[in-house]
Amino acid sequence: MTTTAKPANSGPKLAPPPLNPPERLLMGPGPSNPDPRVLTALGASPVGHLDPYFVELMDQTMGALRNVYRTANHHTLPISGTGSAGLEAIMLNVLEAGDSAVVAVTGYFGRRLAEMASRAGADVRTIEAGPGDIVDPIDLEKMLAARPAKVVAFVHVETTTGACQPIGPMVSVAHRYGAMVVMDCVTSLGGIPIDIDAMGVDAAGSCTQKCLGAPPGLGPITVGPRAMAAVRSRKHKPHTWYLDLGLLFQYWGEESGEKKRAFHHTAPIAAIYGMHEALRLVLDEGLEARWARHTAAHNTLLRGLGRLGLSLFTPQANRCPTINVVNVPAGVDEAKVRSRLLTMGVEMGGGLGPLAGKVWRIGVMGFNASDIRVERLIGSLDEALRAERKS
Ligand code: PLP
Repeated sequence: MTTTAKPANSGPKLAPPPLNPPERLLMGPGPSNPDPRVLTALGASPVGHLDPYFVELMDQTMGALRNVYRTANHHTLPISGTGSAGLEAIMLNVLEAGDSAVVAVTGYFGRRLAEMASRAGADVRTIEAGPGDIVDPIDLEKMLAARPAKVVAFVHVETTTGACQPIGPMVSVAHRYGAMVVMDCVTSLGGIPIDIDAMGVDAAGSCTQKCLGAPPGLGPITVGPRAMAAVRSRKHKPHTWYLDLGLLFQYWGEESGEKKRAFHHTAPIAAIYGMHEALRLVLDEGLEARWARHTAAHNTLLRGLGRLGLSLFTPQANRCPTINVVNVPAGVDEAKVRSRLLTMGVEMGGGLGPLAGKVWRIGVMGFNASDIRVERLIGSLDEALRAERKS
C-alpha cells in the first residue's frame, strides 16, 4: 500500500479573502475620511521605536501637537489607543481614591467621563443637562460651593446631542473654587477654536479621526503643570501600568530634553507617522483658516438641509459646526435612509441613547469639511429620502 503525503496547506482554506474595503464618504460622527496625504504617510517604511529618527519624530509630533492645542505644556503626547484611552489616561493619573470630582454631563460622553473618574476611585458628583442643552455654570458654582472638588470635567462638544459647552465660564468657576479642569475635546480639536493656555484648561484629550484628519488609533492629550503636579504628588501609583504618565514620559521625554528614552511599549510607528503628517497639514493650513473652513462647510450643510426641509435638533445657541444633529422627519424610517445612503457610498450616523431613531448625526470634520463633500452628502440624502418616501 502506498500513501501519498498531503502537502502541508491542502486542508480547508484558512486565509480570509484579500482586503477590499469599499470607498465611503464618512459623514457620520467619526471616523471621518483622512487626508490622502495622511494615508500615504501611514504606509511609510517603519523604523524602530528607539531609532534616533523616531525619537526626533516623537519630539516633532509633541511640538506640533502643542501648537495645535495652543499650549506650552511639555506633557503633550499621543497616547497609544483611541480618544477614550487618552481621556482615561488623564482621569486615572490625575484622580485617586478618595478625591472628589464633578462632571458636567450633557450626554453619553459626559457620562463616560464620570464613569472613568469613578473607576479612578474618585467620589463623583454629576450635573446633568437635558439632550441638546448645556450645563449652567451657576449650577457648577452651587455644587462647588457646597463641597469643593479636585477636578471638574466636561465634554466641549457632546457628539450625541451636538451641544457645545462654552469653555471659559466652566474654567473660571472651577478655578475660583480651586478645582482643575479636564476637558474632552474629541469632536472639536482642529475644527473650532481651542486655546488650552489662554482658556486655562488643565488637561484635555482628543482623537485623531475627526477634525485632525487621520484614522482612529491615537489619543492626543495635553496635561498642564498643575495637573502634572497632582500626578507627581499621588499617594499611590495609578492603577494602570499602560497609561501611567510617569512611565510614558520616560519614553516620550521629560522637560529636560534628554534624548535617551526608556522602553515602555512598542510605539505604533505607522499611526504616529500618520499623525505627524496630519498635524503638519493642520499647521500648514493654519488653525484660523481651518476653523473658518469648518464653519463655511457647516453653513453649506445648513443651506442644503434647509433645501431638503430638514431641521437641526440642537438649539441654535448650543450648536457647533463639527457635528450636526438633524431631526428625522415624521414617518421616515431613519435606519432605512442610512442604509440607502450607504449603498451610494455615503455614511451618516444615527442617534445614540435617548435620541436613537429620532435624529441623524452628520459630521463636518477635517478633510470632509469641504463644500464638495457636503454637497455630495446632501445630494445623496435627497435621493435616499425620495426613495424612502416612495417605498
Ligand atoms: N468623547 C467624545 C465626545 C466622542 O465623540 C468620542 C467618540 O466619538 C469619544 C470621546 C471616544 O473617542 P474614541 O472613540 O476615539 O475612543
